[in-house]
Amino acid sequence: MARGGRKSQGNPVDWVTRAADDAVRHAGEGNLVTVASGASPSGPIHLGNLREFITPHFVAEELRRRGVPVRHLHSWDDFDRFRKVPAGVPAEWADHIGRPLTAVPDPWECHATWAAHFRAPLQEALHELGVEMEEISQTEMYTSGAYRAQVLDAVARRDEIEAVLARHRTKKVSAGEDASAQEAADLAESVANEDDNPAAAASADAIARFPYRPYCRGCGRDTVTTTAYDDATTTLSYTCSSCGFEGITDLSTDNDGKLLWKVDWPMRWAFESVNFEPAGRDHMTPGSSYTVGTEIVSSIFDWRAPARVVYAFVGFAGMQKMSSSAGGVPTATDALRILEAPMLRWLYVRRTPTQAFDIDFGPAVVRLYDEWDALGRKAADPDKADVATLAWHRASATASAGRLPTPAVVVPFRTLSSVADVTAGSADHISRIVESSGFPHDSVSDLEPRLTMAMQWTAEHVPAAERTTVRESPDSERLASLSEDEEQWLRILLDRLREPMSLAEVTAVVYGVPKLARGLGLDDPPTEQVKADQKDFFRLLYRLLVAAERGPRLPTLVVALGPEKVRQLLGA
Ligand SMILES: [Zn+2]
Ligand SMILES: [Zn+2]
Repeated sequence: MARGGRKSQGNPVDWVTRAADDAVRHAGEGNLVTVASGASPSGPIHLGNLREFITPHFVAEELRRRGVPVRHLHSWDDFDRFRKVPAGVPAEWADHIGRPLTAVPDPWECHATWAAHFRAPLQEALHELGVEMEEISQTEMYTSGAYRAQVLDAVARRDEIEAVLARHRTKKVSAGEDASAQEAADLAESVANEDDNPAAAASADAIARFPYRPYCRGCGRDTVTTTAYDDATTTLSYTCSSCGFEGITDLSTDNDGKLLWKVDWPMRWAFESVNFEPAGRDHMTPGSSYTVGTEIVSSIFDWRAPARVVYAFVGFAGMQKMSSSAGGVPTATDALRILEAPMLRWLYVRRTPTQAFDIDFGPAVVRLYDEWDALGRKAADPDKADVATLAWHRASATASAGRLPTPAVVVPFRTLSSVADVTAGSADHISRIVESSGFPHDSVSDLEPRLTMAMQWTAEHVPAAERTTVRESPDSERLASLSEDEEQWLRILLDRLREPMSLAEVTAVVYGVPKLARGLGLDDPPTEQVKADQKDFFRLLYRLLVAAERGPRLPTLVVALGPEKVRQLLGA
């Protein structure tokens, strides 16, 4: 036994391997495996929710690699009710509260419905990430009557269902009493999210806790109270508190509503034969939909709760002006403006889903790219295969898309962003500087998509105070007060600047100036005196070139500015 799990044929084992094993065990050897995800397109789907989609995706990919038949089924919970009007949306949208998300118009007028508006950008991002899913719409499933037999079954056995729900309601209350303030708040939040109608759930009237709720035929809202149900005719009578409509719907022929969430979820596990589905931690509290669903799925729908992983929170840091519509919370689309698709995948696959982490859009992005590039070099050597390189491979390619886009010529992100920062120039301009810095390439496209990402990151995420501002004219005051040493350093530097020079040559000269000034050769190791001189010399250069104490690496800065600009600013 190796640390961290079993090893088979010397191959490293990670959480994906184990989750895939669980899914196969659940489905039974040789059977089609269904991995599932679900999301409500009620608002922007942020990077934390991406775990819902990408976790089963990695499991499906592992199974494809093994040659196991698998489908990734994704459910858009777009038949859910519209709950509240978010900031920035006209107040009159309050009129739509209680209607299905597919019946609410798009206030931005770019899509057919509210649901489509929030579904579309995520679909695009998932496509870019190489995540392929078989998508189903719960609006279509319910309104086509696909679940009719299951709905009738659940309604016929509503007393058994209510007994399970009631037992868990009690547990939840007692768990709440023992909980800390934060846990209690989380719990209250999850009750609010999970109970489709908390007021009715608390009611003593059994008919009010009916497991199925129609949308009102008068106004389309779910603000209905079930007044009667006739088991013989399967007709349900209701009144609507919004519009006063009193109606009847026949569950054997009409398709007006849906099962309550805690019954709906396990019904769908059974209907779709789901073998694996991840769940957010909020679904795992006592009395939560997962706990309740586990009981209901076996007692009512004759299926076993799918194998699962519970995924933890993803946070964010280092954000400047976020263009996101998510109210400052970044979406996958935002992340894909600065991270190559394989890197974003890597952030999710390299940690077990139970581990919370932050995605940092600040200076950490530069280190993240360095780490990713170093891992790519390691992954190229099969002798170095381990869990880390396995994550790199999982992140880099998918069964159907093959290798996801990465630059043909890999230039460190820090180089690209420094040049973008210093020049504030076009991609072509940056490409020429990068070329002369020792990264030969045929065209700008060889540097993509990283070059564009570096430009976007520099423009959108580096705070103005940390941006480099190249001086427009020489600092005549400072140039007039140079010491003898300083004058000598600048003279040596200017003597040796030629065009063109590679980054390596410029590096040797910039570091070598204080050596030459002390009578040493360019290749001699620096003495303590030279090291002290280098510090002073570099500080002088930053002052004269960018009017700051520090900046991008000096050789990169000198190459990016070009000898002519450097001569102008150093007063030559
Ligand atoms: Zn839209
Ligand atoms: Zn109504």
